[in-house]
Amino acid sequence: MATQTDPVCGMQVDEESSAGASEYKRTTYYFCSQSCKQKFDANPEQYAGQAR
Ligand SMILES: [Zn+2]
Repeated sequence: MATQTDPVCGMQVDEESSAGASEYKRTTYYFCSQSCKQKFDANPEQYAGQAR
């Protein structure tokens, strides 16, 4: 089981139980909730740059 860091809120998220995922610059990001995914999708550069 792989755990990823939600780049928006910093929570640890299991890939399988994540609320959603987005791909940005060939990296897939996982989110704890739809609202985190929406924030990321609205401004991916801001979040992807912080949590690599
Ligand atoms: Zn989150």
